Amino acid sequence: MLVPDTKENLAKCVCKSCSTYNEYMKSNAEGLFCAKGKTGCTVEKKECVCVSCPIDTEYRLTARLDLMEKMILKLNTFYCETGPAGLKK
Ligand code: SF4
Ligand code: SF4
Repeated sequence: MLVPDTKENLAKCVCKSCSTYNEYMKSNAEGLFCAKGKTGCTVEKKECVCVSCPIDTEYRLTARLDLMEKMILKLNTFYCETGPAGLKK
């Protein structure tokens, strides 16, 4: 399901607690990458905490996946690098 780009959803985004979230993203108040699309900087991938975000639950971004698939996704989601959720595959 596509995630609406709203202030309310941005407030729920937990990217700020992610170790991949960097100074560029912080200084440009970026977030909600699953709706807004990629960051403007180069991403140095560390982890992705999207699967534990309330937006993931609310818009059922990974609802069809089992626990193992979510673990794998935690290492591979990176909407900040790949762009919005719901547009891939
Ligand atoms: S799913 Fe990821 S990018 Fe989307 S709001 Fe949550 S933490 Fe941010
Ligand atoms: S999209 Fe994922 S990897 Fe990127 S900052 Fe947000 S939680 Fe971290």
